[in-house]
Amino acid sequence: MSMIKTVDACKTFQGKQGRGPLAVLKNVSLAVEQGEVVCIIGPSGAGKSTYLRSLNRLEKIDSGKIYIEDKLLFDCRGGVNTHGISHQELNKSLLEVGMVFQNFNLFPHKTAIENVMLAPVHVRRVPPDQAREKARVILGRVGLDDKMDAYPGQLSGGQQQRVAIARALAMEPRIMLFDEPTSALDPELVGEVLTVMKGLAQAGMTMLVVTHEMGFAREVADRVVFMFEGAILETGKPDLIFSSPSNDRTRQFLQSVL
Ligand code: ADP
Ligand code: MG
Repeated sequence: MSMIKTVDACKTFQGKQGRGPLAVLKNVSLAVEQGEVVCIIGPSGAGKSTYLRSLNRLEKIDSGKIYIEDKLLFDCRGGVNTHGISHQELNKSLLEVGMVFQNFNLFPHKTAIENVMLAPVHVRRVPPDQAREKARVILGRVGLDDKMDAYPGQLSGGQQQRVAIARALAMEPRIMLFDEPTSALDPELVGEVLTVMKGLAQAGMTMLVVTHEMGFAREVADRVVFMFEGAILETGKPDLIFSSPSNDRTRQFLQSVL
C-alpha cells in the first residue's frame, strides 16, 4: 500500500513585485510505500518544502492528485478540489500525516509535556490524564525523560526538535514528513535528532524526509529523490544515486554538497 502518493502535482506561485509567475511544482509524481523511508534532496528553491507542505494541506496544489493510504483525497483542477469527499473524511486522513519543521514551532509558553499533549487532547479528544501518560512515554522514547517540565526556551535546539518529533508522534501518525529537521541546529546537536529519526525508521515508520544530511540519506533511506526547479529529476536507491547519478544536475548538486 502507498502511504502517500501524488500524481502530477503542479503549483505556481504568483510573482511578487512585478516578477512573473513561478512554477514551483511541475508534475510531481511520487509514491511512498508503507514502511519506506524516502529522502528528498535538492538545492534551495527546488520546491521541496512546498511539496511537503502541500501533502499536509498547508499549501494548495493547482492541479494533480493526492492520495493517503491509497485513498484519493484531492483531485485538483484550477486550484479546486473536484473530488467529492466530506470535510470529515478529509480531516481524518490528514491526521494520519505528522510533520516536523526546520524551526520546531513549539508553543513557547507550554512545557515539553504540554506541547506533546496538546493536539491529542484538543484534536483527538483524549482525556488529559491519558494524554499526559502517553506524552511521558513518547518523550522517554526520544530521550527526554528529564525534560518533561522544561519550557522550550530552557532546551537546546536538538532537545526542542526532539520534543517536536514527540509532539507529532503523539497523534499516532501513519506517516511522518520531515522538512530539513536538522538545518537550524548547531552541528553538535544534529546527531541526536538523526538518531531519533533513525530509530523511528527502524521501528517501521513510513517517512518522507527533506534533508541536506547526505550521510543520513545514504544510510537510512530506502530511496532518494532528487528535486530541481520544481521537478523530480531522478530517483533511486541511495547507493546508486550517490555513486553514479544518471542526471547531470544530480551529479552537480552532489559534487557541491559532498
Ligand atoms: P525548497 O524547500 O526546495 O528550498 P521552496 O518550496 O521553499 O523550496 O520554494 C520553492 C520556490 O517557491 C522558491 O523559489 C520560493 O522562493 C518560492 N516560494 C515559496 N513560497 C512562496 C510563496 N508563498 N509565494 C511566492 N513564492 C514562494
Ligand atoms: Mg525548504
